[in-house]
Amino acid sequence: MKIALIAHDGKKADMVHFLSGFKDRLHQKDVELVATGTTGSHIERAGFDVQKLLSGPIGGDAQIAAMAAQKELDMVIFFRDPLDKHPHEPDVQMLMRICDVHNIPLATNPASADLMFKALTQTL
Ligand code: PGA
Repeated sequence: MKIALIAHDGKKADMVHFLSGFKDRLHQKDVELVATGTTGSHIERAGFDVQKLLSGPIGGDAQIAAMAAQKELDMVIFFRDPLDKHPHEPDVQMLMRICDVHNIPLATNPASADLMFKALTQTL
């Protein structure tokens, strides 16, 4: 199982907190993590193995969208910051659209990520 992780700057702490709640499950189950660059660095510092792509604003979101289009992802967790502006908003929209086109589970806040993550990892 491969899960992609992206968090806007105002939500990176939420992402680390979210993952920390599932540390045991992530280590027990066969779950690979992939993340945009800066989000990945935060996750790595918290003690997780993660494949880091480009930073979001320079193409990381687009790389994750490409993986989703190629059916390489089982879930995308994208903690967007709805209270901030993002220069790469077109890429953000594109990533969410590609998830819908290919029916990839997409969680955009911790409450939905929690429910989806539990459901997905139970089936492993
Ligand atoms: P980042 O990218 O993890 O490199 O900060 C996230 C984003 O803003 O898309």
